[in-house]
Amino acid sequence: MKINCAEILCVGTEILIGDIVNTNAAYISKRLAALGVNQYHQGVVGDNPQRLKIFLKEALDRADLVILTGGLGPTYDDLTKETVAEIMGKKMALHQESYERLKEFFVQRNIEMTENNVKQAYMPEECMVLQNDWGTAPGAIIENKEENKAAIILPGPPREMKPMFEKYVVPYIESLSDSVFTSKNVNIFGMGESKVESILIDLMQNSTNPTVAPYAADGEVRLRVTAKTAEKEEGEKLCSEMIEKLMQTEVGKYIYGVDTTVEEALVKKLTEKNKKIAVAESCTGGLVTGKITSVSGSSAVLDGSVVSYANEIKASLLNVEKNVLDTFGAVSEQCALQMADGVRKLMNADIGISITGIAGPTGGTPEKPVGTVYIAVSTEEGSECQMLTLRNNGREYVRNVSAKNVLHLAMNAF
Ligand code: ATP
Repeated sequence: MKINCAEILCVGTEILIGDIVNTNAAYISKRLAALGVNQYHQGVVGDNPQRLKIFLKEALDRADLVILTGGLGPTYDDLTKETVAEIMGKKMALHQESYERLKEFFVQRNIEMTENNVKQAYMPEECMVLQNDWGTAPGAIIENKEENKAAIILPGPPREMKPMFEKYVVPYIESLSDSVFTSKNVNIFGMGESKVESILIDLMQNSTNPTVAPYAADGEVRLRVTAKTAEKEEGEKLCSEMIEKLMQTEVGKYIYGVDTTVEEALVKKLTEKNKKIAVAESCTGGLVTGKITSVSGSSAVLDGSVVSYANEIKASLLNVEKNVLDTFGAVSEQCALQMADGVRKLMNADIGISITGIAGPTGGTPEKPVGTVYIAVSTEEGSECQMLTLRNNGREYVRNVSAKNVLHLAMNAF
């Protein structure tokens, strides 16, 4: 078997009607790209075996490997396994090991095992059964070596699909390839994608191994550095050398990490420098604090947070002067600075950060249109405020990008 091209086919009517977002396809696509497997097409099909047959045949005509997710459950409409077996020319047979595991699963939970549960232990003959340690439905790799075709079936729930993909599919794909791909995401903040590209254009065009490709994601830029080598160690080395080279360019000072997020980088820096932070939020309503606390170990560096929507709370808890609120308003540089200062002093923290703005879509004025956000940082050495003009790009975008910006401002303040 040799895999040059793969397709993803997600099964589930819920995806087609928009009830759930197809995060499985996004996850698998990303991993296939990192593994160096081409993808030219992907699909979604409802829980309908006739249509699944048609789409699967088409996918197998185009690609060497088709990865399917969903429809492996015990109910009557879960027909992925049976349909794939039929198209791949395999009969279904009871897989004893899966049957024993399933029986044990029900015994341990003291639940009666029904007839349709047994269906989950029937697998296509001569397939590689992928044991599911995260749920009940096993997956499978079904090959047709003569025609250089393979189908992989995985359960729909992402919490089962992802670990199974990593445990079985990645090694399977790697075993069929004579090279390995190593990919690193270099995180850049404070410089736009076109500026990054204009600075690095020669380097990007002249680098073939590793390659360097930029992409923008919600207010930041990432450079994906990808090396193709025979051994993993060599790939790591080539990527490290390229990252070193990138650090020496004008873009270097905007690079805040590799394979990280701004909140992870901030918590790491606070931990290393033994500093504590306090947060005062208005328009983000806790999002900044949420991002910080999503990082393990943040309890040692975060003192606390005040979500101060009302002016009275800004005044009473954060010591924002009434005069500032009356003269400049809650969305102002003066207010942001006093919020950051106030929360730092209130919590006796090393760093105070604040955010106040108009997330939209309503609430803007000609002087302060939607997307006007003030972010500030305060330390014992002084304070700084920045105004962001994010326009009416949607409430979530404005909130998310301002939250990232204030975390970044904090990173540079100590
Ligand atoms: P189960 O045994 O839970 O029925 P299954 O393999 O039959 O698993 P589905 O019934 O198709 O999977 O989907 C179960 C759940 O998994 C869905 O309700 C949804 O929450 C999630 N899911 C399925 N497919 C996707 C997908 N492509 N992207 C994100 N989530 C998905």
